[in-house]
Amino acid sequence: CVFVILHYAIQGVRIRLAGERAGSYVTRMGLPGVIAELSLLPLAAVVVFIYKPNSLLGLVLLGGTYLLIAFGFNRLSKAGTKLRKRVKELETLGATSARLAASLHMHELVDARAESALKAIDGAEGLSLVRRSGDEMVVDSCVDGAFTSRRLAPSGALAEVLESDATVHRPQQSGEGLALDKARSWLGAPVRVFGEVEAVLSVEARRSNAFTADDRSLLEGIASQASVALQNVQHYELAMVDGLTRLYVRRYFDARLDEEFERTRRFETEFSVAMVDIDDFKQLNDTYGHEAGDIALAEVARVLLEEMRGIDTAARYGGEEFALVLPRTSLTEAYALAERIRVRLSELRTAVPGRREPLAVTASFGIAAHPESGAESVAELLRLADRALYRAKQMGKDRVELYWSEDQDAAASVKPV
Ligand code: GH3
Ligand code: MG
Ligand code: MG
Repeated sequence: CVFVILHYAIQGVRIRLAGERAGSYVTRMGLPGVIAELSLLPLAAVVVFIYKPNSLLGLVLLGGTYLLIAFGFNRLSKAGTKLRKRVKELETLGATSARLAASLHMHELVDARAESALKAIDGAEGLSLVRRSGDEMVVDSCVDGAFTSRRLAPSGALAEVLESDATVHRPQQSGEGLALDKARSWLGAPVRVFGEVEAVLSVEARRSNAFTADDRSLLEGIASQASVALQNVQHYELAMVDGLTRLYVRRYFDARLDEEFERTRRFETEFSVAMVDIDDFKQLNDTYGHEAGDIALAEVARVLLEEMRGIDTAARYGGEEFALVLPRTSLTEAYALAERIRVRLSELRTAVPGRREPLAVTASFGIAAHPESGAESVAELLRLADRALYRAKQMGKDRVELYWSEDQDAAASVKPV
Protein backbone atom coordinates (compact mmCIF):
# COMPACT_ATOMS: atom_id res chain seq x y z
CA CYS A 1 0.00 0.00 0.00
CA VAL A 2 2.89 2.36 0.89
CA PHE A 3 4.44 1.62 -2.49
CA VAL A 4 1.26 2.25 -4.40
CA ILE A 5 0.77 5.66 -2.72
CA LEU A 6 4.44 6.51 -3.21
CA HIS A 7 4.18 5.49 -6.86
CA TYR A 8 1.19 7.77 -7.52
CA ALA A 9 2.85 10.66 -5.69
CA ILE A 10 5.97 10.31 -7.86
CA GLN A 11 3.83 10.14 -11.04
CA GLY A 12 1.95 13.24 -9.90
CA VAL A 13 5.14 15.24 -9.37
CA ARG A 14 6.46 14.02 -12.75
CA ILE A 15 3.32 15.14 -14.57
CA ARG A 16 3.38 18.55 -12.81
CA LEU A 17 7.04 19.02 -13.71
CA ALA A 18 6.23 18.21 -17.35
CA GLY A 19 3.94 21.24 -17.20
CA GLU A 20 0.61 19.45 -17.42
CA ARG A 21 -2.51 20.42 -15.52
CA ALA A 22 -3.73 18.58 -12.41
CA GLY A 23 -6.82 17.57 -14.41
CA SER A 24 -4.78 15.58 -16.87
CA TYR A 25 -3.24 13.66 -13.93
CA VAL A 26 -6.72 12.50 -12.91
CA THR A 27 -7.74 11.52 -16.44
CA ARG A 28 -4.47 9.80 -17.20
CA MET A 29 -3.91 8.08 -13.88
CA GLY A 30 -7.51 7.69 -12.66
CA LEU A 31 -9.40 4.91 -14.40
CA PRO A 32 -6.44 3.35 -16.25
CA GLY A 33 -4.51 3.38 -12.94
CA VAL A 34 -7.27 1.62 -11.06
CA ILE A 35 -7.63 -1.00 -13.79
CA ALA A 36 -3.87 -1.59 -13.86
CA GLU A 37 -3.75 -1.81 -10.05
CA LEU A 38 -6.64 -4.28 -9.88
CA SER A 39 -5.12 -6.47 -12.55
CA LEU A 40 -1.94 -6.59 -10.49
CA LEU A 41 -3.68 -7.79 -7.31
CA PRO A 42 -3.33 -11.56 -7.92
CA LEU A 43 0.31 -11.04 -8.83
CA ALA A 44 0.86 -8.92 -5.71
CA ALA A 45 -0.64 -11.64 -3.54
CA VAL A 46 1.81 -14.18 -4.98
CA VAL A 47 4.73 -11.78 -4.50
CA VAL A 48 3.71 -11.04 -0.87
CA PHE A 49 3.47 -14.75 -0.23
CA ILE A 50 6.93 -15.41 -1.60
CA TYR A 51 8.75 -12.53 0.15
CA LYS A 52 7.05 -12.77 3.58
CA PRO A 53 6.02 -9.15 4.24
CA ASN A 54 7.53 -8.75 7.71
CA SER A 55 11.18 -8.91 6.89
CA LEU A 56 12.96 -5.75 5.62
CA LEU A 57 14.53 -7.68 2.77
CA GLY A 58 11.06 -8.87 1.76
CA LEU A 59 9.86 -5.28 1.67
CA VAL A 60 12.79 -4.19 -0.53
CA LEU A 61 12.34 -7.15 -2.90
CA LEU A 62 8.59 -6.53 -3.03
CA GLY A 63 9.24 -2.88 -3.86
CA GLY A 64 11.78 -3.83 -6.50
CA THR A 65 9.40 -6.25 -8.19
CA TYR A 66 6.62 -3.67 -8.07
CA LEU A 67 8.80 -0.97 -9.62
CA LEU A 68 9.90 -3.40 -12.34
CA ILE A 69 6.29 -4.20 -13.23
CA ALA A 70 5.30 -0.52 -13.10
CA PHE A 71 8.19 0.29 -15.43
CA GLY A 72 6.97 -2.37 -17.85
CA PHE A 73 3.44 -0.94 -17.74
CA ASN A 74 4.72 2.54 -18.30
CA ARG A 75 6.64 1.47 -21.42
CA LEU A 76 3.58 -0.32 -22.75
CA SER A 77 1.33 2.67 -22.18
CA LYS A 78 3.84 5.00 -23.89
CA ALA A 79 4.01 2.66 -26.89
CA GLY A 80 0.20 2.64 -26.97
CA THR A 81 0.00 6.45 -26.97
CA LYS A 82 2.56 6.63 -29.78
CA LEU A 83 0.62 4.07 -31.79
CA ARG A 84 -2.63 5.98 -31.31
CA LYS A 85 -0.93 9.20 -32.47
CA ARG A 86 0.41 7.41 -35.54
CA VAL A 87 -3.03 6.01 -36.36
CA LYS A 88 -4.49 9.52 -36.04
CA GLU A 89 -1.84 10.86 -38.42
CA LEU A 90 -2.51 8.11 -40.93
CA GLU A 91 -6.24 8.78 -40.72
CA THR A 92 -5.64 12.48 -41.40
CA LEU A 93 -3.45 11.58 -44.35
CA GLY A 94 -5.97 9.13 -45.74
CA ALA A 95 -8.88 11.53 -45.41
CA THR A 96 -7.10 14.36 -47.19
CA SER A 97 -5.50 12.30 -49.93
CA ALA A 98 -8.89 11.65 -51.53
CA ARG A 99 -9.73 15.34 -51.36
CA LEU A 100 -6.33 16.23 -52.71
CA ALA A 101 -6.59 13.93 -55.68
CA ALA A 102 -9.90 15.60 -56.48
CA SER A 103 -8.65 19.18 -56.10
CA LEU A 104 -7.87 20.57 -59.48
CA HIS A 105 -7.07 24.11 -58.54
CA MET A 106 -4.08 25.49 -56.78
CA HIS A 107 -6.07 27.26 -54.06
CA GLU A 108 -7.97 24.06 -53.24
CA LEU A 109 -4.68 22.25 -53.13
CA VAL A 110 -3.16 24.69 -50.66
CA ASP A 111 -6.36 24.55 -48.66
CA ALA A 112 -6.32 20.77 -48.34
CA ARG A 113 -2.57 20.75 -47.74
CA ALA A 114 -2.81 23.31 -44.97
CA GLU A 115 -5.60 21.45 -43.28
CA SER A 116 -3.86 18.09 -43.19
CA ALA A 117 -0.39 19.33 -42.35
CA LEU A 118 -1.44 21.75 -39.64
CA LYS A 119 -3.70 19.15 -38.07
CA ALA A 120 -1.17 16.33 -38.16
CA ILE A 121 1.98 18.23 -37.18
CA ASP A 122 1.39 19.44 -33.64
CA GLY A 123 3.94 22.24 -33.50
CA ALA A 124 3.13 23.78 -36.92
CA GLU A 125 1.74 27.32 -36.73
CA GLY A 126 2.12 28.28 -40.37
CA LEU A 127 2.27 26.41 -43.66
CA SER A 128 3.43 27.36 -47.14
CA LEU A 129 3.28 25.75 -50.54
CA VAL A 130 5.94 27.37 -52.70
CA ARG A 131 5.78 26.76 -56.45
CA ARG A 132 8.12 27.63 -59.27
CA SER A 133 6.78 30.26 -61.63
CA GLY A 134 9.41 31.28 -64.14
CA ASP A 135 12.49 32.48 -62.25
CA GLU A 136 10.44 33.39 -59.21
CA MET A 137 8.50 31.40 -56.66
CA VAL A 138 4.81 31.82 -55.80
CA VAL A 139 4.25 31.40 -52.06
CA ASP A 140 0.77 30.46 -50.84
CA SER A 141 0.71 30.55 -47.06
CA CYS A 142 -1.81 29.73 -44.39
CA VAL A 143 -1.69 31.02 -40.79
CA ASP A 144 -4.69 30.64 -38.46
CA GLY A 145 -6.99 29.82 -41.39
CA ALA A 146 -6.04 33.00 -43.31
CA PHE A 147 -4.44 32.63 -46.75
CA THR A 148 -1.92 34.94 -48.38
CA SER A 149 -0.12 34.74 -51.69
CA ARG A 150 3.08 36.48 -52.77
CA ARG A 151 6.10 36.11 -55.06
CA LEU A 152 9.73 35.97 -54.11
CA ALA A 153 13.14 34.85 -55.29
CA PRO A 154 14.24 31.57 -53.66
CA SER A 155 16.92 31.94 -50.97
CA GLY A 156 18.13 30.37 -47.71
CA ALA A 157 16.59 27.10 -46.61
CA LEU A 158 14.03 27.25 -49.41
CA ALA A 159 16.74 27.41 -52.06
CA GLU A 160 18.51 24.56 -50.28
CA VAL A 161 15.47 22.27 -50.64
CA LEU A 162 15.17 23.18 -54.33
CA GLU A 163 18.84 22.54 -55.03
CA SER A 164 19.39 19.45 -52.91
CA ASP A 165 16.02 17.82 -53.69
CA ALA A 166 15.89 16.80 -50.01
CA THR A 167 14.06 17.78 -46.85
CA VAL A 168 15.72 20.60 -44.90
CA HIS A 169 15.19 21.06 -41.15
CA ARG A 170 16.23 24.31 -39.46
CA PRO A 171 15.32 23.86 -35.80
CA GLN A 172 16.92 27.11 -34.62
CA GLN A 173 16.80 29.82 -37.20
CA SER A 174 15.95 33.47 -36.70
CA GLY A 175 14.16 36.09 -38.72
CA GLU A 176 11.26 36.15 -41.13
CA GLY A 177 9.61 32.91 -42.23
CA LEU A 178 7.57 32.19 -45.35
CA ALA A 179 4.27 32.16 -43.48
CA LEU A 180 5.08 33.74 -40.10
CA ASP A 181 6.67 37.14 -39.38
CA LYS A 182 9.12 35.43 -37.08
CA ALA A 183 9.89 31.75 -37.40
CA ARG A 184 12.39 29.92 -35.21
CA SER A 185 11.68 26.42 -36.57
CA TRP A 186 11.44 25.62 -40.25
CA LEU A 187 10.87 22.30 -41.94
CA GLY A 188 10.54 22.04 -45.72
CA ALA A 189 10.06 19.01 -47.97
CA PRO A 190 10.42 18.88 -51.77
CA VAL A 191 7.35 18.28 -53.93
CA ARG A 192 8.33 16.53 -57.16
CA VAL A 193 6.34 16.70 -60.37
CA PHE A 194 7.39 14.23 -63.06
CA GLY A 195 10.69 13.73 -61.24
CA GLU A 196 11.65 17.42 -60.91
CA VAL A 197 11.41 19.50 -57.73
CA GLU A 198 8.55 21.76 -58.67
CA ALA A 199 7.46 23.00 -55.26
CA VAL A 200 8.31 23.02 -51.56
CA LEU A 201 5.90 22.29 -48.75
CA SER A 202 7.00 23.86 -45.48
CA VAL A 203 5.80 24.26 -41.90
CA GLU A 204 6.98 26.86 -39.41
CA ALA A 205 6.74 27.57 -35.70
CA ARG A 206 7.52 30.59 -33.54
CA ARG A 207 9.52 28.54 -31.04
CA SER A 208 12.74 26.70 -31.77
CA ASN A 209 13.01 22.87 -31.91
CA ALA A 210 9.28 22.59 -32.60
CA PHE A 211 9.48 19.65 -35.01
CA THR A 212 10.43 16.03 -34.38
CA ALA A 213 11.74 13.26 -36.62
CA ASP A 214 8.15 11.97 -36.84
CA ASP A 215 6.99 15.37 -38.08
CA ARG A 216 9.67 15.25 -40.73
CA SER A 217 8.54 11.91 -42.16
CA LEU A 218 4.92 13.02 -41.90
CA LEU A 219 5.62 16.19 -43.89
CA GLU A 220 7.45 14.12 -46.49
CA GLY A 221 4.38 11.88 -46.73
CA ILE A 222 2.10 14.86 -47.29
CA ALA A 223 4.56 16.32 -49.82
CA SER A 224 4.51 13.15 -51.90
CA GLN A 225 0.70 13.29 -51.93
CA ALA A 226 0.94 16.90 -53.01
CA SER A 227 3.14 15.73 -55.89
CA VAL A 228 0.34 13.57 -57.23
CA ALA A 229 -2.17 16.38 -56.80
CA LEU A 230 0.14 18.90 -58.47
CA GLN A 231 0.57 16.54 -61.40
CA ASN A 232 -3.22 16.38 -61.65
CA VAL A 233 -3.42 20.18 -61.58
CA GLN A 234 -0.91 20.42 -64.41
CA HIS A 235 -2.74 17.85 -66.53
CA TYR A 236 -6.00 19.59 -65.86
CA GLU A 237 -4.59 22.97 -66.79
CA LEU A 238 -3.19 21.56 -70.01
CA ALA A 239 -6.67 20.38 -70.91
CA MET A 240 -8.57 23.41 -69.66
CA VAL A 241 -6.34 26.32 -70.62
CA ASP A 242 -6.06 27.67 -74.14
CA GLY A 243 -2.47 27.54 -75.36
CA LEU A 244 -2.44 30.86 -77.23
CA THR A 245 -4.16 33.13 -74.71
CA ARG A 246 -3.60 31.21 -71.43
CA LEU A 247 -7.30 31.76 -70.71
CA TYR A 248 -9.67 28.94 -69.84
CA VAL A 249 -11.35 27.03 -72.65
CA ARG A 250 -15.08 27.17 -73.28
CA ARG A 251 -15.76 23.81 -71.63
CA TYR A 252 -14.29 25.03 -68.36
CA PHE A 253 -16.12 28.33 -68.63
CA ASP A 254 -19.47 26.60 -69.07
CA ALA A 255 -18.86 24.49 -65.97
CA ARG A 256 -17.79 27.56 -64.01
CA LEU A 257 -20.89 29.42 -65.14
CA ASP A 258 -23.16 26.56 -64.02
CA GLU A 259 -21.44 26.59 -60.66
CA GLU A 260 -21.86 30.35 -60.22
CA PHE A 261 -25.52 30.19 -61.25
CA GLU A 262 -26.14 27.56 -58.58
CA ARG A 263 -24.09 29.41 -55.96
CA THR A 264 -26.02 32.62 -56.56
CA ARG A 265 -29.29 30.77 -55.96
CA ARG A 266 -28.01 29.22 -52.74
CA PHE A 267 -26.43 32.30 -51.21
CA GLU A 268 -28.82 34.84 -52.73
CA THR A 269 -26.07 36.91 -54.27
CA GLU A 270 -25.62 38.17 -57.82
CA PHE A 271 -23.10 37.88 -60.62
CA SER A 272 -22.53 39.19 -64.13
CA VAL A 273 -21.45 37.58 -67.33
CA ALA A 274 -19.76 39.53 -70.13
CA MET A 275 -19.24 38.51 -73.74
CA VAL A 276 -16.37 40.24 -75.52
CA ASP A 277 -15.78 40.17 -79.28
CA ILE A 278 -12.87 41.82 -81.06
CA ASP A 279 -13.97 44.38 -83.65
CA ASP A 280 -13.20 43.83 -87.32
CA PHE A 281 -10.88 40.99 -86.56
CA LYS A 282 -11.32 39.43 -89.95
CA GLN A 283 -10.04 42.62 -91.52
CA LEU A 284 -7.08 42.69 -89.12
CA ASN A 285 -6.21 39.14 -90.16
CA ASP A 286 -6.57 39.97 -93.83
CA THR A 287 -4.46 43.13 -93.60
CA TYR A 288 -1.70 42.11 -91.21
CA GLY A 289 -1.76 38.32 -91.51
CA HIS A 290 -2.88 35.50 -89.28
CA GLU A 291 0.22 35.70 -87.11
CA ALA A 292 -0.48 39.33 -86.24
CA GLY A 293 -4.05 38.24 -85.42
CA ASP A 294 -2.71 35.71 -82.96
CA ILE A 295 -0.48 38.31 -81.32
CA ALA A 296 -3.48 40.62 -80.93
CA LEU A 297 -5.50 37.80 -79.35
CA ALA A 298 -2.78 37.13 -76.78
CA GLU A 299 -2.54 40.85 -75.99
CA VAL A 300 -6.28 41.20 -75.45
CA ALA A 301 -6.19 38.18 -73.15
CA ARG A 302 -3.32 39.70 -71.17
CA VAL A 303 -5.29 42.91 -70.59
CA LEU A 304 -8.35 40.91 -69.50
CA LEU A 305 -6.30 38.96 -66.98
CA GLU A 306 -4.63 42.08 -65.65
CA GLU A 307 -7.88 43.92 -65.07
CA MET A 308 -9.77 41.12 -63.38
CA ARG A 309 -9.92 40.15 -59.72
CA GLY A 310 -8.83 36.75 -58.46
CA ILE A 311 -12.40 35.44 -58.20
CA ASP A 312 -13.28 36.36 -61.81
CA THR A 313 -12.91 33.86 -64.62
CA ALA A 314 -11.98 34.72 -68.20
CA ALA A 315 -12.23 32.27 -71.07
CA ARG A 316 -11.57 32.17 -74.76
CA TYR A 317 -15.10 31.38 -75.80
CA GLY A 318 -14.63 31.15 -79.55
CA GLY A 319 -12.05 32.23 -82.15
CA GLU A 320 -11.82 35.92 -81.21
CA GLU A 321 -14.56 35.92 -78.64
CA PHE A 322 -14.03 36.00 -74.89
CA ALA A 323 -16.37 35.47 -71.96
CA LEU A 324 -16.09 36.60 -68.34
CA VAL A 325 -17.81 35.43 -65.17
CA LEU A 326 -17.79 38.14 -62.51
CA PRO A 327 -19.02 36.78 -59.16
CA ARG A 328 -20.74 39.13 -56.67
CA THR A 329 -20.85 41.83 -59.33
CA SER A 330 -23.93 43.86 -60.26
CA LEU A 331 -24.73 44.96 -63.80
CA THR A 332 -23.43 48.49 -63.18
CA GLU A 333 -20.28 47.25 -61.46
CA ALA A 334 -19.66 44.94 -64.41
CA TYR A 335 -20.17 47.91 -66.70
CA ALA A 336 -17.44 49.84 -64.88
CA LEU A 337 -15.02 46.92 -65.25
CA ALA A 338 -15.85 46.34 -68.93
CA GLU A 339 -15.49 50.03 -69.65
CA ARG A 340 -12.05 50.06 -68.03
CA ILE A 341 -10.99 47.09 -70.18
CA ARG A 342 -12.48 48.65 -73.31
CA VAL A 343 -10.52 51.87 -72.81
CA ARG A 344 -7.28 50.00 -72.12
CA LEU A 345 -7.74 47.88 -75.24
CA SER A 346 -8.39 50.88 -77.43
CA GLU A 347 -5.19 52.50 -76.14
CA LEU A 348 -3.17 49.33 -76.68
CA ARG A 349 -0.55 49.37 -79.43
CA THR A 350 1.03 46.02 -80.22
CA ALA A 351 4.29 45.61 -82.08
CA VAL A 352 4.18 43.06 -84.90
CA PRO A 353 7.37 41.49 -86.30
CA GLY A 354 8.19 42.83 -89.76
CA ARG A 355 5.89 45.86 -89.38
CA ARG A 356 6.80 49.37 -88.47
CA GLU A 357 3.30 50.41 -87.50
CA PRO A 358 2.01 48.84 -84.27
CA LEU A 359 -1.36 47.10 -84.26
CA ALA A 360 -4.46 48.66 -82.74
CA VAL A 361 -7.50 46.65 -81.65
CA THR A 362 -10.88 47.49 -80.16
CA ALA A 363 -13.57 45.21 -78.76
CA SER A 364 -17.30 45.27 -78.04
CA PHE A 365 -18.90 44.07 -74.83
CA GLY A 366 -22.33 42.69 -73.95
CA ILE A 367 -23.24 42.16 -70.29
CA ALA A 368 -26.12 40.49 -68.48
CA ALA A 369 -26.48 39.99 -64.72
CA HIS A 370 -28.10 37.28 -62.68
CA PRO A 371 -30.70 37.39 -61.20
CA GLU A 372 -31.24 40.94 -62.52
CA SER A 373 -31.81 39.78 -66.10
CA GLY A 374 -34.55 37.34 -65.05
CA ALA A 375 -32.85 34.58 -67.06
CA GLU A 376 -33.97 31.17 -65.88
CA SER A 377 -31.02 29.20 -67.15
CA VAL A 378 -27.36 29.64 -67.89
CA ALA A 379 -28.03 29.29 -71.60
CA GLU A 380 -30.60 32.08 -71.46
CA LEU A 381 -28.25 34.34 -69.51
CA LEU A 382 -25.57 33.83 -72.17
CA ARG A 383 -28.10 34.58 -74.90
CA LEU A 384 -29.04 37.85 -73.19
CA ALA A 385 -25.39 38.90 -72.85
CA ASP A 386 -24.91 37.98 -76.51
CA ARG A 387 -27.92 40.08 -77.45
CA ALA A 388 -26.34 43.08 -75.70
CA LEU A 389 -23.09 42.37 -77.56
CA TYR A 390 -24.93 42.29 -80.87
CA ARG A 391 -26.40 45.69 -80.07
CA ALA A 392 -22.93 47.04 -79.21
CA LYS A 393 -21.75 45.93 -82.68
CA GLN A 394 -24.76 47.52 -84.35
CA MET A 395 -24.29 50.78 -82.51
CA GLY A 396 -20.82 51.25 -83.90
CA LYS A 397 -18.53 48.81 -82.02
CA ASP A 398 -15.87 49.69 -79.41
CA ARG A 399 -18.56 50.01 -76.75
CA VAL A 400 -20.20 48.30 -73.77
CA GLU A 401 -23.89 47.43 -73.85
CA LEU A 402 -25.96 46.12 -70.92
CA TYR A 403 -29.00 43.92 -70.93
CA TRP A 404 -31.66 45.49 -68.67
CA SER A 405 -34.58 43.30 -67.67
CA GLU A 406 -37.21 46.12 -67.49
CA ASP A 407 -36.85 46.92 -71.12
CA GLN A 408 -36.56 43.59 -72.80
CA ASP A 409 -36.83 44.32 -76.47
CA ALA A 410 -35.30 47.73 -76.77
CA ALA A 411 -33.06 47.57 -73.73
CA ALA A 412 -31.61 50.85 -72.54
CA SER A 413 -28.03 51.37 -73.56
CA VAL A 414 -25.33 53.07 -71.59
CA LYS A 415 -23.15 55.31 -73.68
CA PRO A 416 -19.42 54.87 -73.38
CA VAL A 417 -17.81 57.79 -71.60
P1 GH3 B 1 -17.03 42.16 -85.88
O1 GH3 B 1 -16.51 43.49 -85.50
O2 GH3 B 1 -18.43 42.19 -86.35
O3 GH3 B 1 -16.84 41.16 -84.78
O4 GH3 B 1 -16.14 41.71 -87.10
P2 GH3 B 1 -15.17 40.52 -87.18
O5 GH3 B 1 -14.34 40.63 -88.40
O6 GH3 B 1 -14.42 40.38 -85.91
O7 GH3 B 1 -16.21 39.37 -87.36
P3 GH3 B 1 -16.25 37.98 -86.73
O8 GH3 B 1 -16.28 38.14 -85.27
O9 GH3 B 1 -17.39 37.22 -87.33
O10 GH3 B 1 -14.89 37.39 -87.28
C1 GH3 B 1 -14.19 36.36 -86.73
C2 GH3 B 1 -12.86 36.27 -87.45
O11 GH3 B 1 -11.82 36.06 -86.53
C3 GH3 B 1 -12.80 35.09 -88.38
C4 GH3 B 1 -11.38 34.67 -88.37
O12 GH3 B 1 -10.72 35.17 -89.48
C5 GH3 B 1 -10.79 35.34 -87.16
N1 GH3 B 1 -10.29 34.36 -86.20
C6 GH3 B 1 -11.00 33.52 -85.41
N2 GH3 B 1 -10.20 32.78 -84.65
C7 GH3 B 1 -8.91 33.16 -84.90
C8 GH3 B 1 -7.62 32.76 -84.40
O13 GH3 B 1 -7.48 31.87 -83.54
N3 GH3 B 1 -6.52 33.40 -84.88
C9 GH3 B 1 -6.65 34.37 -85.82
N4 GH3 B 1 -5.55 34.98 -86.25
N5 GH3 B 1 -7.84 34.76 -86.32
C10 GH3 B 1 -8.96 34.17 -85.87
MG1 MG C 1 -15.26 40.01 -84.09
MG1 MG D 1 -16.74 36.87 -83.49
